[in-house]
Amino acid sequence: MKALVKAKAERGIWLEDIDKPEPGHNDVLIRVGHTAICGTDIHIYQWDDWASKTIPVPLTVGHEFSGEIIDVGSEVIGYEVGDRVSAEGHITCGVCRNCRAGRRHLCMNTRGVGVNRAGAFAEYIAVPAFNVFKLPAAISDEMASILDPLGNATHTALSFDLVGEDVLITGAGPIGIMAVAVARYAGARHVVITDVNDYRLKLARDMGATVALNVRSGTLDDTMRELGMTEGFDIGMEMSGNPSAFRDLLRAMHHGGKVALLGIPPEATAIDWTQVIFKGLVLKGIYGREMFETWYKMSSMLQSGLDIRPVITHRFGVDDYREAFELMESGQSGKIILDWTSRGN
Ligand code: NAD
Ligand code: ZN
Repeated sequence: MKALVKAKAERGIWLEDIDKPEPGHNDVLIRVGHTAICGTDIHIYQWDDWASKTIPVPLTVGHEFSGEIIDVGSEVIGYEVGDRVSAEGHITCGVCRNCRAGRRHLCMNTRGVGVNRAGAFAEYIAVPAFNVFKLPAAISDEMASILDPLGNATHTALSFDLVGEDVLITGAGPIGIMAVAVARYAGARHVVITDVNDYRLKLARDMGATVALNVRSGTLDDTMRELGMTEGFDIGMEMSGNPSAFRDLLRAMHHGGKVALLGIPPEATAIDWTQVIFKGLVLKGIYGREMFETWYKMSSMLQSGLDIRPVITHRFGVDDYREAFELMESGQSGKIILDWTSRGN
């Protein structure tokens, strides 16, 4: 089968012919239809420090996908050939305390599809049936391929009660942009998002942001004044991984505010801890999606009016994957879809 493989320990990804996976007895085999490029895939493409320490070569990459089940292992229950599915890309151990308690997102032995084991940028992928999520008819194949990052946005945004609250999101990457839509849907008052990239700030506005602020040309203090906010934000979501964005966010929080942290900052990022302590802030780290509560929540929201279609800005056939990766790398895009159906499999 065709697959996008990190074949060499250098910049790039290569379209190769590799063996089709064999599903184990607890797995399903999925014919991949649509995939989406994640920031993680760009790190792997660039072969930065993190990637070179983490990714075994060769490895099929990618973890955001949807497709159709074409084979089920002998022990699988609840799924059938022909089911339209997406899948959770965090493979958990099932035997640690958190897994056994139903807190799979806190498993200490998580392995990532397309990071630690064969990924989804391929004509076929085998995954444990446990990880599969069956798609309601109302969710398109394309939308289903971005449930993983929408799940990050949903898990972060629904960590705290947003109803009637003022929300600050730092970082208008695809996940920050989707978090705007979720916060709106969930009933926030003002949703302010910051970035340094005007293309993405415009997308955030299209998704319903009250203000999409370029922090190179404006300040949060001015924005709050313009909105008539006198006390600070109730809810913060750090979605940039940028230390100065994180510090700005802490300064703009109201006393007793709650902050969910998704963005991955550089090691040893320093903050002003007095902002946290004297304001009594609550900080919560977010990793992945709650299995599978987040999946049901976002699926239900998509069926009841949550509209994230504007975040998908580009579509490419798999053969044009290089152009797609380089566009994603440039930051002049939202989510980019790679279509595998055009390969006629
Ligand atoms: P992204 O890198 O596309 O988005 C980050 C955005 O932050 C970019 O648009 C960038 O321009 C912006 N930014 C840079 N400096 C800024 C500043 N000073 N102020 C405001 N914005 C600034 O990433 P994404 O795919 O949307 O993901 C968001 C973050 O979440 C990334 O850090 C990513 O690594 C992380 N992430 C974490 C998890 C998790 O499970 N914790 C999962 C997926 C992604
Ligand atoms: Zn576990």
